[in-house]
Amino acid sequence: MNVDSILQEIGAMKTKMNKKEKIVKIPEEAIETIKSNMPTSGYQMLRESLIMAIGALEKQIPKKPHRNYKKFSGLWCKCGWYLGQKQCLDIKYCPNCGQAILLEDE
Ligand SMILES: [Zn+2]
Repeated sequence: MNVDSILQEIGAMKTKMNKKEKIVKIPEEAIETIKSNMPTSGYQMLRESLIMAIGALEKQIPKKPHRNYKKFSGLWCKCGWYLGQKQCLDIKYCPNCGQAILLEDE
């Protein structure tokens, strides 16, 4: 076997692995997995990083925008960003904080 054929084989293996079905399919499962495997002491950098990862994953879980009638009608993200009027809203993420937005028909 020469180097080229070995590299070719590695490439094929990588493709195979990428095509393999993932076990963790949704952010909720990833969050649960991280939380249940979080080191309880020591590993401060790892724990801080995992907490950051949980925060990022939580934003991937679509949340319904809320209405704030005190200011004016329309939909707002939980971060306080005005998203717009529902009928002309066509976004999947808050442009301010990155929260996934769930637009349901009422
Ligand atoms: Zn936001």
